[in-house]
Amino acid sequence: MNYQRSSALFAEAKQYIPGGVNSPVRAFKAVGGDPIFVKEAKGAYFYDEDGNRFIDYIASWGPLILGHAHKPVMDAVIEKAKKGTSFGMPTEIETQLAQLAISMVPNIDKIRFVNSGTEACMSAIRLARGFTKRDKIIKFAGCYHGHSDSFLIQAGSGAVTFGTPNSPGVTQGTAKDTLLVNYNDLESVRAMVSANKGEIAAIIIEPVAGNMGCIVPQNDFMNGLRELCTKEQILLIFDEVMTGFRLAKGGAQEVLGIDADIVTFGKVIGGGLPVGAFAARKEIMDYLAPDGPVYQAGTLSGNPLAMSAGLAMLMELNNKPEVFESLADKTEHLHEGFDRILKGKGVPHQINRMGSMISVHFTEEPVVDFASSAKGNNNMFKKYFHGMLNRGIYLPPSAFESYFLNDALSYGDLDQTIKALESVVEDLN
Ligand code: PMP
Repeated sequence: MNYQRSSALFAEAKQYIPGGVNSPVRAFKAVGGDPIFVKEAKGAYFYDEDGNRFIDYIASWGPLILGHAHKPVMDAVIEKAKKGTSFGMPTEIETQLAQLAISMVPNIDKIRFVNSGTEACMSAIRLARGFTKRDKIIKFAGCYHGHSDSFLIQAGSGAVTFGTPNSPGVTQGTAKDTLLVNYNDLESVRAMVSANKGEIAAIIIEPVAGNMGCIVPQNDFMNGLRELCTKEQILLIFDEVMTGFRLAKGGAQEVLGIDADIVTFGKVIGGGLPVGAFAARKEIMDYLAPDGPVYQAGTLSGNPLAMSAGLAMLMELNNKPEVFESLADKTEHLHEGFDRILKGKGVPHQINRMGSMISVHFTEEPVVDFASSAKGNNNMFKKYFHGMLNRGIYLPPSAFESYFLNDALSYGDLDQTIKALESVVEDLN
């Protein structure tokens, strides 16, 4: 494939935009080479500036669960845009989207809209801290909750020490209130809670992780977390930015049968426009300004374009709940095809999957947390990524990301993808 124009556009972008991109993963740093510049997209495919067509397995990193330029969403946005794009005043559609979201998701009474998943998670912990009057939070190594300061903390010398910032600009003062534990390791959480008794406002978790590849909670881990939080009066925050309205109508809460205290959303809830949200029971949400003392605001929050895209998207999902099963079936088909080929060639691998989230890790060991995810063979991943790319299959350009299937993908597309792997696998070892 020829990527000439993409490469030229990237060179130009780098002169004006740091690293040539507005979000780092887009720059292909983990896999090498120049990123692809998109021209347009429809359904399961996008077309780049060189005229190549790709089957898209990220679909904007999750929002486009029904495929690109899905007509009901496009129509809603276009109609709305004709009537003005932002007012900074209340509009009826905000309540409509709130009502619908609350009706689909278990255990939430009120919801506040923001502009990104980052804002949703940042606001959720402020609310949790205000509500509990405690300062510390617990997060899991390898989970991503956006780029606000409190979350840019990685495990330093182990889970029982304070975190250290993993970005310059995050102060030690902030880092000391974020405690790190290991995914799928309830004992690490129990130890951290007992070492900080009465001081922890919230435990935040991706209920199915998607930011260290896809990692599924094991056995009784989630039940254990729920019990621990209830016992210690810690708020359990489910970051459902990826899983919300993707794994099921009611997201991971529904699928795992666990009630969180606060839930954050992004991606699907905005139908491809910039939307995030956080939600909880009334008593917690009423702690927010203007009724409560915890401040949170946004000039463009709840703006009509974003709300119309979100409303059209959630209406589609609410009216056609079979889509979640259809997506899970398609993902299983891909899983089986990939597994068969990799096994056939003796390539060490793990495939993790839940619903329409899936990831491939080139390692012998089960991938259950950040440490095991980091053991994947990155050279093999790079070959795999570029091999697939050159055959018109667009996968996440990092081993630490989940794929997001969209329902516009046909079984023909999936089989073409499996076939591509059949030829890529020849050069993997
Ligand atoms: N939480 C999770 C689980 C995410 O995956 C992401 C983004 N991928 C975020 C929060 C941050 O969302 P945004 O990029 O919209 O700020």
